[in-house]
Amino acid sequence: MKNMRKIIILLLVIFLGINTVQAYSLVLPKEKKSVTNREYAFFVGKAQNTEVITINDKRIYIAPNGAFAHTVKLKEGNNRVVVRSNLSTQIYNFRKKSSAEKAKPPLKEFEPKRVVVANDRTALRETPEHSGLNRISHLFKDTNLLVNGSQGDFYRVFLSKNRTAWIAIKDTTEPKNAEEYSTPTFITMNSETFKNASVHTIEFTDKLPYTIDESGNDIVFRVYNPEYSDNSVYTVNIKKPDKYVYKTTLADRGTYVFKVNELPLPTDKTLDGVTVVVDPGHGGSESGAIGCLGDKEKDITLKIGLELQDRLRLMGANVIMTRECDGFVSLDDRVKISNASCPQIFVSIHLNSIPDINMNIRKNRGTSVYYYNDNSRELAQSVQKALLKELSTHNDGVRQKSFKVLRRSEYLSILVEAAYMTNPMDSVLYREEDFAYNAARGIAEGILRYLVCD
Ligand SMILES: [Zn+2]
Repeated sequence: MKNMRKIIILLLVIFLGINTVQAYSLVLPKEKKSVTNREYAFFVGKAQNTEVITINDKRIYIAPNGAFAHTVKLKEGNNRVVVRSNLSTQIYNFRKKSSAEKAKPPLKEFEPKRVVVANDRTALRETPEHSGLNRISHLFKDTNLLVNGSQGDFYRVFLSKNRTAWIAIKDTTEPKNAEEYSTPTFITMNSETFKNASVHTIEFTDKLPYTIDESGNDIVFRVYNPEYSDNSVYTVNIKKPDKYVYKTTLADRGTYVFKVNELPLPTDKTLDGVTVVVDPGHGGSESGAIGCLGDKEKDITLKIGLELQDRLRLMGANVIMTRECDGFVSLDDRVKISNASCPQIFVSIHLNSIPDINMNIRKNRGTSVYYYNDNSRELAQSVQKALLKELSTHNDGVRQKSFKVLRRSEYLSILVEAAYMTNPMDSVLYREEDFAYNAARGIAEGILRYLVCD
């Protein structure tokens, strides 16, 4: 009798077990319960294409290779999404933040006070938010700032009568030697021109905030002395060369050196004398995006990166890799490797996942190339054009975005998103035997065309 009961319990366990087996697997969403700011929830994964899967009673499309990607529009507050297959029912809960929760904190104005920048490469921003593209410049540690307001986590920085900017409060400290402090004063300004470079020096007695603007025909460097007088702005205008890189350094306490270099152009149709850093995205413990069918972004980026290395070397370039095997390399280390090699060009290789903007995931597919500084835009366009030709992917555009690996201006930097990992149609393309080879051809061709042709 006792054994009989055991057998019944065992059968019950087996039955319940079978009943919760899923006939599909999801790579997104990662959790059954989550809080989000997004307009949509994404359901990405694979199933037998004979399977019938419904999400909130709507049957979803499963591609011939089993990949699927489906979006559900979220309303503010709690959303319950029911995923049903032939064998199971699963519930997912999303809480979308309400507009009241996302509302901007109020601006508080106060009497001007001095603060000091806590770390090197601290972002000075156009608006009080961590949005990436609102960066105006990167300030040096111990730069003296005058702040006269705050909003949320940011101070409002007074630059001149006509200009304010923002800095994260956590990136500043209170001045230490307040009684010894004297207002920085201007010493001298000097410009020198060489064959392929110009060097501009502005000297003060102490560190002050500066901005860089390269949106017009000139590159404009400005150093502000807000404590000295309302209009104490020191400006250097440099006519933009055709292909250029630039750098701001501090030669001494308060001595700013702005250097603009014209890119040396290869003479023949080769990349002789050009150094390119190739950066296959992710690696090791960091897989990157997971495709509908379970492919890992890090494996595809490495394949493309190694093909690109061969290709560029054949064309005469000096190639530095940030990784050549499946290991973890931090973003900081990637930037360090790149800086140490003094390249002309840096190419980061990735594959996209869910779109940043909320759109139908099935429409977001194909190839895109990103740049951050204006000097890299034309290179991004050239690489995009060549990539589309080689890969025959959908044109997802050239875009400006603040990726950490792209923010350096002393070399041209682009980030390639070869295809979307999470797109069922792209999952057919990036699994093809020659995808990596063709992607590498496209990138190399785009670089050559940009450098050699006008
Ligand atoms: Zn990536």
